[in-house]
Amino acid sequence: MAGAVGIDRCNALLEVQRLDLILDELAQQESTLPHKARIAQIAQKMAEGQSFITKLEEGLDRFESQIQQGNSTVEQLKQKIAKDQQGLDAGDIDYRQVEVVTADIAAHNARIGEVESEQMQLMEAKQSARERIADYRAKIEELQAAKEQTLNAYRQQMAVLAAKQVQISAARDEKRVVAGDELVELYDQLRKSRGGTVVGVFDGTRCSACSLTIPTALTECFINPGDTGICSECKRLLVYQGEADDE
Ligand SMILES: [Zn+2]
Repeated sequence: MAGAVGIDRCNALLEVQRLDLILDELAQQESTLPHKARIAQIAQKMAEGQSFITKLEEGLDRFESQIQQGNSTVEQLKQKIAKDQQGLDAGDIDYRQVEVVTADIAAHNARIGEVESEQMQLMEAKQSARERIADYRAKIEELQAAKEQTLNAYRQQMAVLAAKQVQISAARDEKRVVAGDELVELYDQLRKSRGGTVVGVFDGTRCSACSLTIPTALTECFINPGDTGICSECKRLLVYQGEADDE
């Protein structure tokens, strides 16, 4: 598998790796964009607000029907009072009943007072429920705007990342052709099994990937720039680019 493959192919393979690592990073960035979580959070708050509104609206309906009930109670009491009063005025009522009827009228009037004060409270409750509903609606509108803003930002970020991916993938495809099938296959296998950095550079002493010194006895396959081998320490593919600038 490894051997003298030439410096150009080795360099191209290193370039493939560099670009793949960038692609890994972009994928990582894409999967860790905060927008989705933020959007879910906003949507949850909106749903909460909506459920408060629903409860308040149910309350409003209840208050409304209680108010109507109160109105008809007052109406009935007024009719009773009017009838009793009419009886009293007309002298139709037995004198023994006058006291009872008068007491009834007083009791009815007292009850009307109570009901009317309850009505006032119900009106206030209704008003306050209406205000709270308006507050929640305004809040939901704000959240909706925030959600759209976040969604736009997310789409923008995704588009930027996608454009970078396309560009880098194209460059990577070119370099893979230069590196050649044999090296690329080996590289792909290593990427599949261990991921990340799978090619190191042998500088004459160490493997750049694991930083460990290669025993001299195992360095005999690295003679010319473009020679390749396997790191005895980390088992990554090693390429030799020649002695570093010391002529
Ligand atoms: Zn190594």
